[in-house]
Amino acid sequence: MRIDIITVLPELIESPLNHSIIKRAKEKGLVEINIINLRDFATDKYKSVDDYAFGGGAGMVMMIEPVYRALEKLQSEREYDEIIYTSPDGEKFTQKIANQLSLKKNIIILAGHYKGVDQRIRDHLVTREISIGDYVLSGGELPAAIITDAIIRLIPGAISDEQSALSDSFQDDLLAPPVYTRPSVFKRWKVPNILLSGNTGEIEKWRHKQSVGRTKKLRPDLADDE
Ligand code: SAH
Repeated sequence: MRIDIITVLPELIESPLNHSIIKRAKEKGLVEINIINLRDFATDKYKSVDDYAFGGGAGMVMMIEPVYRALEKLQSEREYDEIIYTSPDGEKFTQKIANQLSLKKNIIILAGHYKGVDQRIRDHLVTREISIGDYVLSGGELPAAIITDAIIRLIPGAISDEQSALSDSFQDDLLAPPVYTRPSVFKRWKVPNILLSGNTGEIEKWRHKQSVGRTKKLRPDLADDE
C-alpha cells in the first residue's frame, strides 16, 4: 500500500508517522508513506500556495494550481483509489472507514490549511472528504496522520499478533475489554481472578461479557448502528 500526503507543513506529519507500529510497517515494506511539500509545486518564485479569498474576508485560501500540479504528477505515475481531503465538514472518520481504506492500494490525502482549499479542488479533484470530529483544527496535517495511523495498523502483518487489531474497540461494534498486567496485586487493587485461572475458554467468555457490558454502559449507540 502507498499513501501520499500533500501538505504545506511536512514537518508536522513526519514525526507522528515515524514511531512504533507505523515505523515498523514501513520498515517491513507493508506500506510506503510519501509526504509531499505543496510548495514544490508552486508556480511563482515566492513558492506561494495560498492567496486572498475572492469576495474578501479574513483568512487565506489554498490555491488550486499547486494542488492540481501535485495531483497531476502523482497520477501520471500510478492510479489512485481515493483522493481524500481532510475537512471538518466531511464524513465522520470511523473504524469502518479505516477498514475500507486499509484494503486500497494507493491513496492520496490532501491536508488543508488556512481557511481551506479553493472549492474547485473539492468539486473536481477530490473523491472523498473526511472529518476526524466536530471541532476545527489549524490544519489537516494531524487529521492526515490520524487517518494514516488508523489505516496502517489494520494491514496484515503491521501488528505482530494479528488478533490484536481485530480485538480492538469498534472492530465488531464492541468496546475492548479491560486489560491488566503484573503485578497481580498492587496495594489492595487486584486483577480479576478469572484472568489468573489459565482457563482460556472461560477467560474468553469473561472478556466478551465485559465488552458487551462496557458497550451497553458507555456507548449504547454502537449497538444501534447497522
Ligand atoms: N474554514 C474551515 C476550517 C479551516 S481549518 C471550516 O470552517 O470548515 C484548516 C484546515 O484544517 C481545513 O481545511 C482542514 O483540512 C483541516 N481540519 C480542521 N479541522 C478538521 C477536522 N475536524 N477534520 C479534518 N480536517 C480538519
